[in-house]
Amino acid sequence: MAEQTKYLLDESELPTHWYNLIPDLPAPPPPPLHPATNEPVGPADLAPLFPMALILQEVSTDSYIEIPEEVRDVYRLWRPSPLYRARRLERALGTPARIYFKYEGVSPAGSHKPNTSVPQAFYNAQEGIRRLTTETGAGQWGTALAFASSLFGIECEVWQVRASYDQKPYRKSMMEVFGGVVHPSPSDLTEAGRKILADDPDSPGSLGIAISEAVEIAAQNDDTRYALGSVLNHVLLHQTVIGEEAITQMAMAGDTPDLVVGCVGGGSNFGGLAFPFLREKLKGNLDCEIRAVEPAACPTLTRGIYTYDFGDTAGMTPLLKMHTLGHDFVPDPIHAGGLRYHGMSPLISHVYELGLMTAEARQQSECFAAGVQFARTEGIVPAPEPTHALASTIDEARRCAETGEEKVILTALCGHGHLDLAAYDKYLAGDVQDFDYPQERIDEALTRLPNPDL
Ligand SMILES: *Cc1c(COP(=O)(O)O)cnc(C)c1O
Repeated sequence: MAEQTKYLLDESELPTHWYNLIPDLPAPPPPPLHPATNEPVGPADLAPLFPMALILQEVSTDSYIEIPEEVRDVYRLWRPSPLYRARRLERALGTPARIYFKYEGVSPAGSHKPNTSVPQAFYNAQEGIRRLTTETGAGQWGTALAFASSLFGIECEVWQVRASYDQKPYRKSMMEVFGGVVHPSPSDLTEAGRKILADDPDSPGSLGIAISEAVEIAAQNDDTRYALGSVLNHVLLHQTVIGEEAITQMAMAGDTPDLVVGCVGGGSNFGGLAFPFLREKLKGNLDCEIRAVEPAACPTLTRGIYTYDFGDTAGMTPLLKMHTLGHDFVPDPIHAGGLRYHGMSPLISHVYELGLMTAEARQQSECFAAGVQFARTEGIVPAPEPTHALASTIDEARRCAETGEEKVILTALCGHGHLDLAAYDKYLAGDVQDFDYPQERIDEALTRLPNPDL
């Protein structure tokens, strides 16, 4: 009999609920604080930025939240997404390990981001919001939000990090095709942007700066709200459709993972795949390692400190307790634009502090090597971000080839790299540099924490 490589679910098996990990944890994550009072922020503090439905999800202690039928209807355009067994990669590595990957590149934006942009646009439209503002690094989130906004009849304005605005012109085209309006960040449209430009007219920008700009416009306009593509609890919540489907698909394959591994920028694709498996682990149904992989050039979990910091550069957001490299961190220009955020999801940071997961940092050249090997065996060109998880997967599978261990590895292939080919060109030309984030810069950034005593 032919070997099965693809595990597909029927539309009727699309999850009906998102899974909230928080009530299953041994301790709740520390709350966001108001920077002026250092008191926990309440729903009213967040109302200028987010619709109430999302604020309530952000603080929910319900284990399951029903996915609105209008959202499931859009999800059906590409969900349930496929799970594959990477048999050709296994053979190329000569490994007894069994490698599975959950592929989110089949979405309209080519990544996992529409799993949350669609419900976010839906709830905003339901509450009568006319316009959404947001930031985007690599362009994936801006594309996903422009797509979702077009479906629900709202405007979408995107501040794109200058470096990637210049490097990835086709992302801008895609946002515009979906009806989005795109500004390079820093821009002269906001106080926050003008301040940065006054200091450095050639600033390459950063996610933190772009967030400040998008938040500023939303806070100043009644008909406008802000949308965030990662980091926050409600975003990770929406992404759990990935893990819920994968649990069913792994059961179809007759395997249970010994290792669940994903890349982390703000933590949403990783949390989306891992949290339903972590639920099973906490219930004692599964014994597996859950591993996050980040770039050595932006080592938030492995070298950042766990403290309260701003989510943006200008200091307009609530204080979030998270692993951070300092809110004014401007990353080296590595190609995995989606992994260059100075902080980490507070929920992922908390899970890491509880010892429920592991983390490692990898250099971009080994990640591109893994991406190329994956493309040449499995036929999918991965986005630069998930190649971090692939490098970890391939290392693990090689170790198994030496020890004979039949480890089952499940990895998140959270997007394709069709708009990242310029980065692959550079790699193939031998032109990709490795960076270690210098310790002096971490130490220095930590002198500017909003309140080091928290
Ligand atoms: C945005 C993005 C990331 C990083 O964000 P997370 O919230 O950590 O998932 C990773 N990969 C791809 C393809 C992305 O678009």
